[in-house]
Amino acid sequence: MAETEKTIRLEVITPDASVLHKDVDFILVRALDGDLGIMPNHAPLIASLDIWPLFYDEQGQRSCITVTSGFLEVSNNTVTIITPAAETPENIDVERAEAAKERAEKRLHVKSQDIDVHRAELALQRALRRIETVEKYGR
Ligand code: ATP
Repeated sequence: MAETEKTIRLEVITPDASVLHKDVDFILVRALDGDLGIMPNHAPLIASLDIWPLFYDEQGQRSCITVTSGFLEVSNNTVTIITPAAETPENIDVERAEAAKERAEKRLHVKSQDIDVHRAELALQRALRRIETVEKYGR
């Protein structure tokens, strides 16, 4: 019988850096087709991610990191998240996110043919999730 582990490795990687690498008890992440709860010894899996906060529990304490899409692979008791950008609450610049939100809202409001609506919607989602992450989970 395969050995069972009490924790699972969480790796969050962006093009700029390895943002997080921890052994955790539980991970909750929003995939494009719904929420995924991942415990140690989870079966292999690949999923595309939404722009959403990812939660992880470590020795009874819940923490959060916002991931801005990308994908997740579960393999060999390791969850690897590859995402364009990821920020913990303390690393989020709220003023910058508020400015990005206003910019995106203005673009969506104008609805000119020069505006890439999908791009503006994604920018708005990133800004909203960053603001929400600090408001709800910043310590
Ligand atoms: P902005 O228009 O403010 O650049 P954006 O959503 O277009 O926002 P991204 O392309 O998602 O930005 O991210 C580019 C880089 O900037 C990433 O490294 C990301 O972590 C960082 N970043 C973006 N917004 C913030 C923020 N509000 N606070 C801290 N880091 C941020």
